[in-house]
Amino acid sequence: MTSQPSIVRLASVSDVSENKPLRLARRVSRMSASAVREILKVTEQPEIISFAGGLPAPELFPVEALAEAHKEVFASEGRSALQYSTSEGWKPLREWVARRSRSRGLRADADNVLITSGSQQGIDLVAKIFLEAGDSVVVENPCYLAALQSFSGYEARLVGVESDDEGMRVEQVERALVESDPKLIYIVSEFSNPKGTSLSHERRARLVELSRRYRVPIVEDDPYSELRYRGEPCAPIASLDGEGLVIYLSTFSKTLSPGMRVGWMVASKELIQTLVIAKQATDLHTSTIQQRAVAKLLETFDYDGHISELNRVYGARCRAMLESLESRFPSGTRWTHPEGGLFLWVELPEVVRGEALLEAALRRKVAFVPGAPFFASDPRHNFIRLNFSNQSPEMIEEGVKRLALTIEEQAS
Ligand code: PMP
Repeated sequence: MTSQPSIVRLASVSDVSENKPLRLARRVSRMSASAVREILKVTEQPEIISFAGGLPAPELFPVEALAEAHKEVFASEGRSALQYSTSEGWKPLREWVARRSRSRGLRADADNVLITSGSQQGIDLVAKIFLEAGDSVVVENPCYLAALQSFSGYEARLVGVESDDEGMRVEQVERALVESDPKLIYIVSEFSNPKGTSLSHERRARLVELSRRYRVPIVEDDPYSELRYRGEPCAPIASLDGEGLVIYLSTFSKTLSPGMRVGWMVASKELIQTLVIAKQATDLHTSTIQQRAVAKLLETFDYDGHISELNRVYGARCRAMLESLESRFPSGTRWTHPEGGLFLWVELPEVVRGEALLEAALRRKVAFVPGAPFFASDPRHNFIRLNFSNQSPEMIEEGVKRLALTIEEQAS
């Protein structure tokens, strides 16, 4: 056969289909660009005081220790570090995660651990192995936006349960379990994104009880619990589970660096095996070099000392924001009082809409994220999310002052 006929055929195919849209999967219609990422394009300009992103402070990245760890990995195990590796993840790192998890009350050894490319991948892999189109997922309302994006991408139905200052109102979960027969309950247990609130111990215990009774797994997303500035730590939901019903996710993104993309999940061995297969199809494995560099760093670096330093600096920034809000924000506004994490959540007078407020605030060179996109259902527009980790106390004071003026203007 000569190549001539196929050239002719290709030309005619392209003629016929010139104006025909490509047939994307139906699920694409459920995918929307993250409102936060879109806003960040505008707000992360240098002259703007931004409370918008969820960015850890770059001046606190352990740059030298990470550079040294990479150097050592290249010098002593460079060829293996540049090679493909197992989907489960680098064994010494899985062992470190298992030890750390045990110290927080989880029953885990290395076979219960899967290293992921950030905890975001953990969310996506769980969604991938559990959700058929039309399945329900119970979430806190409001909820972490990129989890909503992931579940929607698998065409799930989001069932929002209201929350208050102690997190998800677990007394409403039973009704959601009965009415919508969900496949999963997703929750950020400590210092949630967007609210900064934590689920109380009583609610954690009750949630585990419900998960057992209805055999619905809990996805406990816990990227922030190491960042505690005051108050007493609370045992993870996963530590209350003896039946393999909690899938626990965490990450080095907030303690070392988000750009490294190293996170983990802890789950029953059976689930981990299935998740490993799902991960193979997604990215084969998390970067070999980054995993080994993190493991190398953890051999000698004072990780807990580093976290104490993060907590000292972020704690001061959190206090600065709370004090500025207290002294500047007009009456009719209220906000959460986080004991850790990166965010707090402000309720504005009913007449003020977060989106319009952002437009006006940008003219004063201050930014935040409007709250509506975080709602899984019944979006409310008079809420905003403020991040406090990425500005100095002085800039926080100045930014809150500008924001207070803008709110007063919009409310009048
Ligand atoms: N879960 C929550 C609640 C988050 O806020 C974030 C980061 N914004 C993630 C997961 C994803 O983190 P990672 O960088 O580990 O993928």
